Amino acid sequence: MAEIPSLAGLRVLLVEDEEINQLALRTGLERQGIVVTCAGSGEAALAALRAGTFDCVLMDIQMPGMSGLEVTQAIRTQPEFRDCADIPVIALTAFAMSGDRERFLAAGMDDYLAKPFSFDDLSRMLGRIRLARLAFLNAGK
Ligand code: MN
Repeated sequence: MAEIPSLAGLRVLLVEDEEINQLALRTGLERQGIVVTCAGSGEAALAALRAGTFDCVLMDIQMPGMSGLEVTQAIRTQPEFRDCADIPVIALTAFAMSGDRERFLAAGMDDYLAKPFSFDDLSRMLGRIRLARLAFLNAGK
């Protein structure tokens, strides 16, 4: 079995409009030492990205106002987000229909988890991202 890297200290921006989901996810992530910043809307997510630095974004798709797809496209394309344009974005979606994965990837997302998902699934995905980010950062040195 592949070694799962520690997730402690990982800075995650959690974008989720439903408070109960947000609280449950935040609690589970913080239990693993992950540093969680919550945004309750797409607009709040962009404000958080302007103000801070994150290793990964967990992005709800269905939100009032900007959808997760629109937020991701803004991160990938708008000059003001140049510094975080390549940040990993994982879609969190309540609906999993055929073609969704392609649609999310086309919008610039890296991967997705269909709700309900287990914390093990989420941890494995974050672990892969952490390994990939470490390799990326080491390659830049
Ligand atoms: Mn939602």
